Amino acid sequence: MVSDSGSREPGSLYIVATPIGNLDDITVRASRILAQVDRVAAEDTRHSGKLLQHLGISKPLLALHDHNERDKAASVLDRIAAGESIALISDAGTPLISDPGYVLVRDARARGIRVIPVPGPCAFVAALSAAGLPTDRFLFEGFLSAKASARRAALKSLGREAATMVFYEAPRRVSAMLADVGECLGRGRQVVVARELTKTFETFYHGSAEEVLAQLKDDPNAAKGEFVVIVAGAPSSERSEDVLDVDRLLNLLLPELPLRQVAKIVAELTGGSKNELYQRALALRNE
Ligand code: SAM
Repeated sequence: MVSDSGSREPGSLYIVATPIGNLDDITVRASRILAQVDRVAAEDTRHSGKLLQHLGISKPLLALHDHNERDKAASVLDRIAAGESIALISDAGTPLISDPGYVLVRDARARGIRVIPVPGPCAFVAALSAAGLPTDRFLFEGFLSAKASARRAALKSLGREAATMVFYEAPRRVSAMLADVGECLGRGRQVVVARELTKTFETFYHGSAEEVLAQLKDDPNAAKGEFVVIVAGAPSSERSEDVLDVDRLLNLLLPELPLRQVAKIVAELTGGSKNELYQRALALRNE
């Protein structure tokens, strides 16, 4: 295998991102690595064969998908240990992001094999970058359960989440999911749905969960394609219970323990700042 700098190096595992729709999004480095490796491990060899053909690359492919990853990882890593370099790609986007590869990468690292990321397209990053919702903190949740009750329970558990939340969803479930977002997180909660990113019919729908649901109902193409659903974090008014919980904890502990110890324990329990909790405990004691 020839490294980026042109020198020979032992076998490595490359984790290569590929386009999520628009084939022009393949990076120059991804094309070069795919052309250089000895073999390409792919989720669906027929699908990835077409991408390689488009790039003018002919490579032996091996199938590595959710159902055989545990069995196949060892033999892929044996090949790398013997000097081969192998690239892992998924059907679209970045491997391991709601796609196979975790076991392979974990075991590669455990065996001391070099794992080299070759970054590129990723649907949720593309959606987030253009959605217009806060990106300073976000929670990638991937696919929620296909079962309505489990999906609702998951959404309810996110009710007080302050970070922007990002989901992948199958086209046939997007409307049901948005209805659940409205029901579980509040009808006014801001939502952005990104459909068919980088493709001809790329569309962003935004508004409250109810408004986006109505936009999707009005759009005859809305049930088709691929979707990223982004939900704004809870407004601070809906998170005020956190403050009450902290105050309750402080009030419970204050009669029992010295102030500093109270602040330390509550900081550990809540992940809050020890100094801020000390000041809050002080204020509560003086009230
Ligand atoms: N590894 C991929 C990535 O980096 O984004 C994700 C793979 S996951 C199995 C497939 C899901 O990603 C789709 O169901 C959809 O939710 C989202 N997705 C992939 N391509 C997309 C696109 N072009 N537009 C919108 N969503 C997309």
